[in-house]
Amino acid sequence: MNPVVTISGGGIIGNYISLRLNQNSIESVVIEKSKNKISANKNIRTVTLNPYSKKLLDDVGIKIPYAKIKKINVFDGEGTGSIDFSSDEINEENLSFVVYFNDLEDALKRNVLKTTFFETEIKNFKENNNDRCEITLSNDKPINSIFLAGCDGRNSNVAKLASLKPVTSNYEQTAITFTASANLKNPYTAYQIFSERGIFAIMPLPSSTDQSFYTIVWSVDNMQIEEQSIEDFIKENISYFEKKLKANIKVNSDILSFSLSNHHFENYVIGSLVLIGDAAHSIHPLAGQGINLGFADADAFCEEITNAYQAKINIDKHLVLKRYEIRRKNMNLLMLKSMDFFVNLFKSNNLYIKLLRNFGLSRVNKTQFLKKFFINHASGKNKI
Ligand SMILES: Cc1cc2nc3c(=O)[nH]c(=O)nc-3n(C[C@H](O)[C@H](O)[C@H](O)COP(=O)(O)OP(=O)(O)OC[C@H]3O[C@@H](n4cnc5c(N)ncnc54)[C@H](O)[C@@H]3O)c2cc1C
Repeated sequence: MNPVVTISGGGIIGNYISLRLNQNSIESVVIEKSKNKISANKNIRTVTLNPYSKKLLDDVGIKIPYAKIKKINVFDGEGTGSIDFSSDEINEENLSFVVYFNDLEDALKRNVLKTTFFETEIKNFKENNNDRCEITLSNDKPINSIFLAGCDGRNSNVAKLASLKPVTSNYEQTAITFTASANLKNPYTAYQIFSERGIFAIMPLPSSTDQSFYTIVWSVDNMQIEEQSIEDFIKENISYFEKKLKANIKVNSDILSFSLSNHHFENYVIGSLVLIGDAAHSIHPLAGQGINLGFADADAFCEEITNAYQAKINIDKHLVLKRYEIRRKNMNLLMLKSMDFFVNLFKSNNLYIKLLRNFGLSRVNKTQFLKKFFINHASGKNKI
């Protein structure tokens, strides 16, 4: 087998890349370690797509239900600072779109089934004299490929095989996520509250009929759930957010939880190997940007490969990969550092920092240029 690109990891990002390359007649295969099954889990976990990621999916023909967000209201639960973002400010119809994680993963998977090898992983790989990458799979089958794309998530197998060492830090926090019914007044609006009881985000859920269902992503310090169950923590603390939002919130799903850490690599590229999406970097979910950074990576990677192939000249694959790395690494690092800044700012109980963040949020809200900078960044409009 001699595909142009071998992709380790058939998650959202790996499958999107495979679908887009195949549509451009660039052969790719996906190596996925899990079984071939459409998600058995109920739809609980969601991801928020920015308009640019949504457009990328539209362009490859992926259609799934989504909920529109036109306004985001962020406020400090302990103080008076607040900031509003509206789609009008960036001349877009919507700020973002909430989709079920499983819907998106399954829709992409269905489109690349024929070129995916399930229950398989890459055992080893090495460069050969013809500037190609010789890959051996766990079933000992060989693949000879030009590029090897690592899309295998935050504990990337291929990064480990290449002995790449990530820079990591642990937030000592857990993200709790579930769905709920709520009687919030404003349609198409997401709310985010920073407080000592955690960072609480509530966003509309995709539904054709009912506007009263929401997804909640709530990041809490691990200390707060050490001595009680997550269920008890929610029961004890949700009334605080109900008061802040002047609404009743009723949990109506199982509760999922994920421990939170971030990581990134100093280099995304070594030889034929290139890291993309969560394999290259992972961030705190507070701004719902993880998958959007992955889509921006995937877009830059596909664009560089497609441009090189369409030019029909000898391909300098190292140049192609280096261009991808230059386009994406610093943008991703900027987002990662910004998220760290916000997590630490709102963790602090220091009185001066509390005053500063109240002042800061309100100030940014009044400063159009700063607001535009934040929104454009989050919406995917700031693209290299
Ligand atoms: C609670 C929570 C909420 C979030 N909310 C948002 C949000 O609102 N918006 C947003 O943008 N992001 C969000 N994220 C982040 C987002 O989910 C991730 O950024 C995204 O799933 C990464 O996609 P990926 O395809 O790069 O990696 P993954 O989803 O990790 O996929 C990796 C794939 O590789 C496979 N794999 C792993 N190891 C191997 C191996 N050895 N060989 C072969 N295959 C392998 C896995 O089975 C999987 O299919 C959230 C994350 C959390 C934890």
